[in-house]
Amino acid sequence: MTTVVSIAFESTDSADALLRDTDNARVIEILNAGLGRPLKYAFVMHAGVSIPDIKVQWSTDSDMVQAFGFSYNKLSAASLEATFPCEVYLNIENWRSLRAHQAHWRLMGIKKYREYQVTHEFGHALGVGHLAPRGRVCNVMTQQTMKPTCAINSRPTSVDLDYFIKARARGGFARVRQSKL
Ligand SMILES: [Zn+2]
Repeated sequence: MTTVVSIAFESTDSADALLRDTDNARVIEILNAGLGRPLKYAFVMHAGVSIPDIKVQWSTDSDMVQAFGFSYNKLSAASLEATFPCEVYLNIENWRSLRAHQAHWRLMGIKKYREYQVTHEFGHALGVGHLAPRGRVCNVMTQQTMKPTCAINSRPTSVDLDYFIKARARGGFARVRQSKL
């Protein structure tokens, strides 16, 4: 059975200046393509006054440093606090351009980076940690912003999906997480 997961988008003042009209819808699209179908989740934009399942906070590099106390700049992050709804921080500066990243990412282009950024952080929010690089193609839960030994990949592999499906069975996004980077 499909579970609806509602997402509320917020942005800091400085991130808001960089945000475009289509960005939130694109995040929802990426989620439904990467996690939604295989995991039977339907990600939707949160509407109304009820509490959303997940809160996305668009942040700049300096917002990330302020929120996490040390250099999370250039990165995104998922829920660090014991809060509900689950919180995912997306770095708007990375989403906008890959200036901060190494050449191997710039070659892959912004489209794949965004898929990786969103799918990876929501994978953390679901409760999955980092996976070591194994095999030719990187798992989406392998940290790929430092040059990995595997081929860059922005979509869940069968290995990622095994972890995601187990995490969903344990309660998925409803669980409180302690997950970094
Ligand atoms: Zn990570």
